[in-house]
Amino acid sequence: MQSQVLNVMANSLKPTTLRLHRNVAASLFQRMYSSSTDADIVVIGSGPGGYVAAIKAAQLGLKTVCIEKNPTLGGTCLNVGCIPSKALLNNSHYYHMAHSGDLAKRGIESDNIRLNLDTLMAQKTNSVSALTGGIVQLFKKNKVELIKGHGKITGVNQVTALKEDGSSEVVNTKNILIATGSEVTPFPGIDIDEEQIVSSTGALSLKRVPERLIVIGAGVIGVELGSVWSRLGSEVTAIEFLPSIGGLGIDQEVSKSFQKILAKQGLKFKLGTKVTGASKSGGVVKVSVQDVKDSSKTEDLECEVLLVSVGRRPYTENLGLEEMGIERDQKGRVPVNSVFQTVIPNIYAIGDCIHGPMLAHKAEDEGIICVEGILGGAVHIDYNCVPSVIYTHPEVGWVGKTEEDLKSEGVDYKVGKFPFLANSRAKTNNDTDGFVKVLSDKATDRILGTHIIGSSAGELINEAVLAQEYGASAEDVARVCHAHPTCAEALREANLMAYFGKPINF
Ligand SMILES: Cc1cc2nc3c(=O)[nH]c(=O)nc-3n(C[C@H](O)[C@H](O)[C@H](O)COP(=O)(O)OP(=O)(O)OC[C@H]3O[C@@H](n4cnc5c(N)ncnc54)[C@H](O)[C@@H]3O)c2cc1C
Repeated sequence: MQSQVLNVMANSLKPTTLRLHRNVAASLFQRMYSSSTDADIVVIGSGPGGYVAAIKAAQLGLKTVCIEKNPTLGGTCLNVGCIPSKALLNNSHYYHMAHSGDLAKRGIESDNIRLNLDTLMAQKTNSVSALTGGIVQLFKKNKVELIKGHGKITGVNQVTALKEDGSSEVVNTKNILIATGSEVTPFPGIDIDEEQIVSSTGALSLKRVPERLIVIGAGVIGVELGSVWSRLGSEVTAIEFLPSIGGLGIDQEVSKSFQKILAKQGLKFKLGTKVTGASKSGGVVKVSVQDVKDSSKTEDLECEVLLVSVGRRPYTENLGLEEMGIERDQKGRVPVNSVFQTVIPNIYAIGDCIHGPMLAHKAEDEGIICVEGILGGAVHIDYNCVPSVIYTHPEVGWVGKTEEDLKSEGVDYKVGKFPFLANSRAKTNNDTDGFVKVLSDKATDRILGTHIIGSSAGELINEAVLAQEYGASAEDVARVCHAHPTCAEALREANLMAYFGKPINF
C-alpha cells in the first residue's frame, strides 16, 4: 500500500510551475497524462460540487468521467434540496399573498382563491426535470462521459461503477474526486416513513396539506419548509433545542427579528425544547417534548405530519474508503488538506462530504478550484466569504462575522443599520419588514460582516460578498453609486451609517 501511495505521489506531481497560465498548464497536463489510462479524472457524484467540477475539468482539457448512482443528475440540490424547496417557497408565497388578502390590499381582487396542490407540485417537478436534464446536455456539450452506477474506489488509480443490472465497469484514472455529498441525519428512535413522519425529502412532496405540522429543528431547512406548509394552510410548530432560530452562524439580533416576523405570519416556535420521542397512532403523530433546562417540564403535542429536520451528515457509503485506508473524522467527513487532497494525494474530496458549511455554492467553488489545483492553479477559498441565505419571506442573508463572533474574538467594531421601512423601493412595494446591518472594523473601516433580513436579502447579499471578498471598507460601498429606487440602497445606507454614523434617509 505504501509503495502504491508513493507511486501516486510521483504521478500526481504538478505539471509545471504554478505561475503558468492555466490553459498552458492544461495542454501540458494533457500530454503528460497520455491516453494509456481511461480517464484523467473520475468524479464520483453529480451534485453541484461534482457536476461543476466535471465540467470544469473537461473544459480544461482533462478526459473526464462522472459516475452517478441516482437516475437523475444534480444531487441533493437539484433533486431534493435547493431547487424543489425554492419552487415551493416561491409559489406558496404567491398563494399566501392572494389568500391572505395581501393582493386585495394592492387592488388586485379575485374571489374564491383555491389551492391546487397537484399543480403546485407539478410546477416544482417541471423545474427540477428541466434543470437535471440541463446537466445531461452540459455534459454532452463539454464532453464529460457519464456512467450511471454506484462508484467505488477499487484502487488508487481505479474506480468501479457498480450498475443496477449487476454488471460493473472499471475506469482507470490518474485522479479521483469524491463528491458524494450528504444525506438526512436520522433522529434516534424516530423512524421516517416519508408519509406521516417525513424528512425534508418527504416534506417536498406531501400529497395533502396537513392540518397540523410539527417540525423538529428550526434551522434553515426547518423554517423554509415550515413556511411553505404554513402558507398553504397548516398550523406549524417548530421545536428547537437551541434558544434561537435560523441555525448556527446567524446573527442573534437578526434571528430575534426573524422569529418575530415568522410568528406574525402564524408559525409557532418552542425554543430551548428537546424532542424525546414520537409515536404514530391512527392518523396522528404524538410528539413528546421536554424543556432543555428543566427536564421536569414535559409536554405531548399532536400533529398529522412530523418533519424531522435536524441536519445532514456526509454520505460515503460503500465508497471503498476503508479499503483505501482513508479514515473519516468524528462527523463522518472525509479529511482533506488545503488543496482538497485526502491522505492519498491523487484522491480528492469536496462539497458536503468534507468540512465547512453544507451549501451548494460552497461545493461548486471547491469543485472548480480543486480541479484548477490539479492542473497547477492556485487553490484559494475564504470560507468567511461564503454567504448563507434563508429563502423565507422576508429572506435572510449573511456573510462574514456576526456581532457575537466579533465580541468573542475581542475585535473593536462599528455597526451600521438601516431599516427597509425607510427604503423607498421597499416602501413602494409595501414590503418593509427587516433591515440591513453592516459590521466594520473600528480602526480600519474594513467590512467584517453583513446581515440582511428583507424580501430581497438573497440577492442583495451578493453585493456584500463581493465587497468583503475584495476587502472593501464601509466607505467604499457607501460611495458607490446605487440605482434608485432599489432595495440595494438600504445596503449602501447601512454602510454609510457604519463609516459616517449618519445615513441620509433615516
Ligand atoms: C431541503 C434542502 C434545501 C436546501 N437548500 C439549499 C439552498 O437553498 N442553498 C444551498 O446552497 N444549499 C441548499 N441545500 C444544501 C445543498 O443541497 C447541498 O449543500 C449540496 O447539494 C451539496 O452538494 P454536493 O455536490 O456536495 O453533494 P450532493 O448534492 O449531495 O450530491 C452528491 C451526489 O453524489 C451521488 N453519489 C453519492 N455516492 C455515490 C457513489 N458512491 N457513486 C455514485 N454517485 C454517488 C449522489 O447520488 C448525489 O447525486 C439544501 C438541502 C436540502 C436538503
